[in-house]
Amino acid sequence: MIPSGFIQDLLTRVDVVDVVGRHVELKKAGINHKGLCPFHGEKTPSFIVSPSRQTYHCFGCGVHGDAVRFLTEFVGLGFVEAVQELAQQVGMTVPDDDRTQEERQAQAQRRQEATTLTDLMARAAVHYRQQLKASEVAVAYLKRRGLTGEVAKQFGIGYAADSWHGLASAFPSYDDPKLEEAGLVIGQDVGTPKEKRYDRFRHRIMFPIRSVKGEVIGFGGRVLDGGEPKYLNSPETPVFIKGRELYGLYEARTAIRKAGYALVVEGYMDVVALAQWGLGHAVATLGTACTEDHVRKLMRFTDSIVFSFDGDAAGRKAAARALEACLPHASDTRSIRFLFLPPEHDPDSFVREHGAPAFEEAVSRAVPLSRQMLNLAQQGCEMDAPEGRARFANQAFPLWSALPEGALQRQMLQAFAQEASLPVQELSSLWAAMARARGQGFGGGSRPGPAGLAGPLGPSGQRAPDGRTPDGRAYGGSGGSGGYAISTDGSYGADPAHPGGIPMGVPGASHGGVGRAGMSHDRHGASPGFGPKRRLSWAERQALADPMRRGAAPPALRRTPRSPADWVTQLLLKQAQWWSRLSADDLDLLHHLPAPHTTLLRWLERDIEEHGPRPWAAIQLAMQDAPDLGRAWRQLQHQETDESESHWESLRHALDQLHLDRLQLQQTELAARASQDPSALAEYQRVFERWKHLKQALAAASADGGG
Ligand SMILES: [Zn+2]
Repeated sequence: MIPSGFIQDLLTRVDVVDVVGRHVELKKAGINHKGLCPFHGEKTPSFIVSPSRQTYHCFGCGVHGDAVRFLTEFVGLGFVEAVQELAQQVGMTVPDDDRTQEERQAQAQRRQEATTLTDLMARAAVHYRQQLKASEVAVAYLKRRGLTGEVAKQFGIGYAADSWHGLASAFPSYDDPKLEEAGLVIGQDVGTPKEKRYDRFRHRIMFPIRSVKGEVIGFGGRVLDGGEPKYLNSPETPVFIKGRELYGLYEARTAIRKAGYALVVEGYMDVVALAQWGLGHAVATLGTACTEDHVRKLMRFTDSIVFSFDGDAAGRKAAARALEACLPHASDTRSIRFLFLPPEHDPDSFVREHGAPAFEEAVSRAVPLSRQMLNLAQQGCEMDAPEGRARFANQAFPLWSALPEGALQRQMLQAFAQEASLPVQELSSLWAAMARARGQGFGGGSRPGPAGLAGPLGPSGQRAPDGRTPDGRAYGGSGGSGGYAISTDGSYGADPAHPGGIPMGVPGASHGGVGRAGMSHDRHGASPGFGPKRRLSWAERQALADPMRRGAAPPALRRTPRSPADWVTQLLLKQAQWWSRLSADDLDLLHHLPAPHTTLLRWLERDIEEHGPRPWAAIQLAMQDAPDLGRAWRQLQHQETDESESHWESLRHALDQLHLDRLQLQQTELAARASQDPSALAEYQRVFERWKHLKQALAAASADGGG
């Protein structure tokens, strides 16, 4: 809790005119400042910012508030985040938290590093804009695409010249390693005589990607001619996590409020082209599938989202993933719809050929979430045969159970029952039985299960010979310190809040036969699903999350993120003194981790008992003498880590991720038992509360990390 006295104090030190002025162009008008209201969109200014009262007020739409409110309502920051942002601007320290001095310093340092990166990128953006002015070829290209200078300016579009060292003139030192860290420059054979550096982006139209605060956090570059790749994005950096950021959101905020919904399209050219046509409320994901983080971020600005997808197979697949990301957020007050354009069109070409009104008309006929759920569940089912309807009921279950409780969920139960030609009661008892079966299905192991549902684990929990595992896509999620293999988004099991949840498949999307078996979550490879009969234990899921186990990972998998379990194990071995800070709950969690983690951690625990916490060097020596420990250590995914990441906060975060994941599993198990055992329901409530608190704490911590 931040004491209210502090906020009062803070508000007397910040200047609302500064804060608002960073986002809205203000002109002095008497004792006040005046501008176009960013909340409702208008042609004549009725938005007044008062320095004497330290508030803003709109006479058009009635919005009103102070600096903190502006940051939460307009910029989309969380409350704590907004307070911290302002405090930082005026050099105050928020007395909110129980973090140690050390942890606070570490965070301040990360913030400082992030600022360095965004400053560099801002500088590069200026350079690219100047280059655009100087390049006839690039200007001609933009004109051909129908873009005016005004829109180019609004999006800060630039041009990276066809030169290996174009950025050299923009920075005092081209050798600055920070340029590499920012992803602007690529270093080769660094530290050797053959060392060379060159610009990542060459001969490309440059689209700066901005955070909601307006900082440049990355770039997208599009080739002008037939070069490859057509689109090139900045690599992920501490300030640029693709699963969280949306291109154009900063520019679209006012238009989203005005239009009443956000339009999610597939590419940045679509975003810019739509803005050119007066449809400024479009945003795009950055070459990744839509994630829950994207949806959550958008939901800060609007309750209504329309996804626009190309009408081809890839577009339908992308729509299925977006649906999956949306389901947990589909509360009764929100509207989520899916627009499928004719196969020959993307939004850019559609609006060029048919005009903006036709596009808006198409949006008004977009498929609602409820219908899209039915469509997905019906894929591959012959609905006029009992077998097909039975399959449909199976495929519908994971979709339905991912919905939050509420009127929509109840109505969908009815809708699914109607389609399945079953009374509602029967469908719901069928689904309860499915949930139970899942709860009891694990452990026997000998039952092969329906085709495709067995998952990658054999009877004894060994890897299947094909070496495939569920994808461990890196997930911004709540992973503040970044880059964990997935553990909280439900890829391996139930959606936490909805005990019935199993991985959302696109039923039958890829191969008709394996309907509910789930889908590949990303392009890296197939993701065998876990059907109703096969539920993984928490430990198994950790084992799967362990990237070392996917020896045969497809080559496309460039960098496998380490799992939280790997990270926890590594940190504890290196910082044995932290062992004594672990809670009983943490220890219980660690004792249940699978090999190789358990091998290392159990040994470490004994070692600490015997010798007390020993330095890493001593532990390394001891490990060298024990082949099984060495083997286990090598099985962990090791990532080049900057030493600044080796802090207690990072360990705490990873532990909490593991706790969260485990609580989810417990919920699923309890929910499956709840229909027969009333005590399980009470226990479920308790676990759910714990899960919820932890999730919130993690989200807050992640927001604090600055993202
Ligand atoms: Zn207004």
